[in-house]
Amino acid sequence: MKNSRIAIVGGGPAGLMAAEVLSRAGGVQVDLFDAMPSAARKFLLAGRGGLNLTHSEPFEHFAARFGSRSSQVERWLSRFGPDQVRGWASGLGIETFVGSSGRVFPRDMKAAPLLRSWIHRLRSAGVRFHMRHRWLGWSEGDGGRHVLRFGAADGETVFEADAVLLALGGASWPRLGSDGTWVDILQRRGVDIAPLQPANCGFDVERWTPHFIERFAGQPFKSVAIAFEDRQGHRFERKGEFVVTATGIEGSLVYAVSSLLRDEIAAAGEATLWLDLLPDKSTAQVLAAVSHPRGARSLGSHLKGRLGLEGIKSAVLYEVLGSQAVHSPETLAATIKHLPIRLVAPRPIDEAISTAGGVRLEGLDDRLMCRNLPGLYVAGEMLDWEAPTGGYLLTACVASAVMAADGILAEG
Ligand SMILES: Cc1cc2nc3c(=O)[nH]c(=O)nc-3n(C[C@H](O)[C@H](O)[C@H](O)COP(=O)(O)OP(=O)(O)OC[C@H]3O[C@@H](n4cnc5c(N)ncnc54)[C@H](O)[C@@H]3O)c2cc1C
Repeated sequence: MKNSRIAIVGGGPAGLMAAEVLSRAGGVQVDLFDAMPSAARKFLLAGRGGLNLTHSEPFEHFAARFGSRSSQVERWLSRFGPDQVRGWASGLGIETFVGSSGRVFPRDMKAAPLLRSWIHRLRSAGVRFHMRHRWLGWSEGDGGRHVLRFGAADGETVFEADAVLLALGGASWPRLGSDGTWVDILQRRGVDIAPLQPANCGFDVERWTPHFIERFAGQPFKSVAIAFEDRQGHRFERKGEFVVTATGIEGSLVYAVSSLLRDEIAAAGEATLWLDLLPDKSTAQVLAAVSHPRGARSLGSHLKGRLGLEGIKSAVLYEVLGSQAVHSPETLAATIKHLPIRLVAPRPIDEAISTAGGVRLEGLDDRLMCRNLPGLYVAGEMLDWEAPTGGYLLTACVASAVMAADGILAEG
């Protein structure tokens, strides 16, 4: 690959990391293209949530977060994993810390200083940035060479590269640049792509009453637990919090189970999530409390006084049970511990944190080169893997980019 021209298309974290590996190796010219006026807009948005770069849990646990793709992703992570992510940030002058949940963040919990320093280093290493260049595909009749077509401000332009690395992201938050339009282009060239689907997404419930939405949309359920079991017997149980929306639910606890819920809804048309409003109390304790004579007190003040249930937690009982709740302590206690929330649809992909589906790994070699399109490498979220939130997404994106960039260099 000496004196080769490498085109990287997509300037998110995966594309930038590939540019870093390639430019550092020397002897190649790296040109990076992106449709947007500036790079890594989704990465900057992630900074609003504190920029969870990676996770500090043991490597085996980390690698297991990628479900059916764990063994493939583990190979990338063995080359560039959570420790290397922290080392890389530190090399850019950004120290990281481990939060109480084990998640790793930059000390200032911001993405902009890291990105500024990163892009500055890449430019200094000779990477040429071509912003506002939307990749449109290959020139017809390019005879297997990589003559890429771009839509730019002053019309269409072409760029011939010796190798191409695509890092075009998924299809969530399309206004930040990743809109999944690459699916058609690659399918036309015979690349096998699993349908793009929302991952780490919210869900629509069968029904919230207008009264409940008016009072509680945007409010969190805190210190609750959820449980779900799909028809294959995959079980999920965890404590945490989530938020009520105008049409359903979203938030970290929901995202954590979202792949199971999404797949169950696709298979069965619906999924029932079970909510425990008081995970630190047993059903017997709850039953004793609700059965206690309440005299002239309303049920609401009884639940508040005896169990600390109020606000959204008390309202959701009425939402599910209606007036029956008042009459049966057994039903009431059982529902407090095991309240059904019937989900009917995942929220659309453009609202999701990330994307499942993408370029199938079976069509790629170990270095992430398309078997049927020599010289074309793929990295980042546009590959067919998914993971929960917790720093796994960014880490796997940059790890796959390092793998693909290594592959390009190894060609030489
Ligand atoms: C709100 C939010 C918060 C998040 N927080 C975190 C977090 O804290 N931790 C974490 O690990 N992950 C987080 N993520 C996920 C993480 O940001 C993504 O997984 C990651 O950015 C994907 O990197 P990528 O480089 O593969 O793709 P992207 O970051 O999506 O970059 C792809 C680039 O390709 C460009 N592009 C697309 N199509 C074309 C085209 N046809 N021509 C030219 N350019 C094109 C786009 O403009 C974009 O710049 C968050 C996501 C969201 C939406």
